[in-house]
Amino acid sequence: MFASRRLRPFTLIELLVVIAIIAILASMLLPALQQARAKARAINCTGNMKQLGLGVIMYADDNKVMPHTFWDSVLSWQPADGGSYKGLVNPYINSQKVWECPSRPGTTWNDLKSTHYVYNYGYCRNRAMEAVTKPTETVVFCASSATSVHGIDNTNQVWPNDAASGLRISFPHNDQANVLWVDGHVSAVKKNGLVPSFFNPTWTP
Ligand SMILES: [Zn+2]
Repeated sequence: MFASRRLRPFTLIELLVVIAIIAILASMLLPALQQARAKARAINCTGNMKQLGLGVIMYADDNKVMPHTFWDSVLSWQPADGGSYKGLVNPYINSQKVWECPSRPGTTWNDLKSTHYVYNYGYCRNRAMEAVTKPTETVVFCASSATSVHGIDNTNQVWPNDAASGLRISFPHNDQANVLWVDGHVSAVKKNGLVPSFFNPTWTP
């Protein structure tokens, strides 16, 4: 009796049903995996900015003020002495990786110039950290729209956050930007939440 029992092969319909179920399960799982990966990148980026914050604090400790950086029409934010904000802060960190946001597409990397974080140079340069009146609400570094050393010195470079052109900030993490504040903490700010007064207390709103 047992020996005479034969396994019936799968019918095409049964096979298709199984394939459909697998496809549905996979489609439910993939967005969750992608979200987890995006979250991991955002956390990695937060760690980068915390290290940049330590670099700025150490620089300011040695020099009494936060880093300068200045415009050079020929070298484009790259002063002749190599002393852009990256050139000044990086010796305290000594890492290229911390200047790189993991959610930014790969670019040709230049150790002197490349960074995915833009400096709030208009307000911070040559200013003592103790002289900042609202250190928890004043930006030092923000996610950059550029890939090389750049600075913020005008309200229309940051506001509105969804301006079609001219922005020097970006929101690469699910429409959020990581921001390093003068007190050293890093937080994610949603698009349209990064108001000009965070960059300069005299800017409105
Ligand atoms: Zn990032």
